[in-house]
Amino acid sequence: ASFASLGVEPFLVRALAAMAIRKPTAVQAACIPPILKGADCIGSAQTGSGKTIAFALPILQGLARDPYGFYAIVLTPTRELAFQISEQFRVLGAAVNLHSTVIVGGMDMMTQAIELRKRPHVLIATPGRLVDLIKSNQGEWSLKRVKYLVLDEADRLLTPTFAPELSFIIDQLPSHSERQTLLFTATVTDPVLALQSKPQAPGKPKVF
Ligand code: AMP
Repeated sequence: ASFASLGVEPFLVRALAAMAIRKPTAVQAACIPPILKGADCIGSAQTGSGKTIAFALPILQGLARDPYGFYAIVLTPTRELAFQISEQFRVLGAAVNLHSTVIVGGMDMMTQAIELRKRPHVLIATPGRLVDLIKSNQGEWSLKRVKYLVLDEADRLLTPTFAPELSFIIDQLPSHSERQTLLFTATVTDPVLALQSKPQAPGKPKVF
């Protein structure tokens, strides 16, 4: 398979080629077509699986067509993962003038609050700090039109440590039927399955 045969548009195929990425990984081949069709997905989150590009390409392709702020929210359990994801979006998103922001703990909250007022297209966050910023938001912005919710390492996010923060964030988003939920996980736990309410594209097996 090639990225083009999965439905990836030429401008992104070119951006991938510039990174010497030509052949989709298994999780990319399995997830990209159903995501492009509007389905939710569960993908394998093994290290090096290529999951970031699996969700970044459909998001960037949608943004190219209909660019607006707070288009996608990517939640991840650690700061390090947030910056790694951000870097891949930065490289691939240059062609669509992507504006993305990383919101993690341990950095200046006032600066982050100012960033959020600019409504970045893609918000990559650890849950705790995003909750703090939502709580201090004085009606200046809203997450009510977010198109994609991505949970990276969903099994680690959907544990008692993060669960209250996660449900607080999800309450701010459009309902399941109005957004796409993309889950990447090492193990498929019950809370992970519960979040995947929209059916996958017909005939597509679940991807682990
Ligand atoms: P991830 O699993 O998303 O953390 O990606 C791990 C690394 O694999 C990143 O450095 C990507 O740039 C790289 N990568 C992702 N997809 C591919 C691919 N199809 N071919 C080669 N490298 C890739």
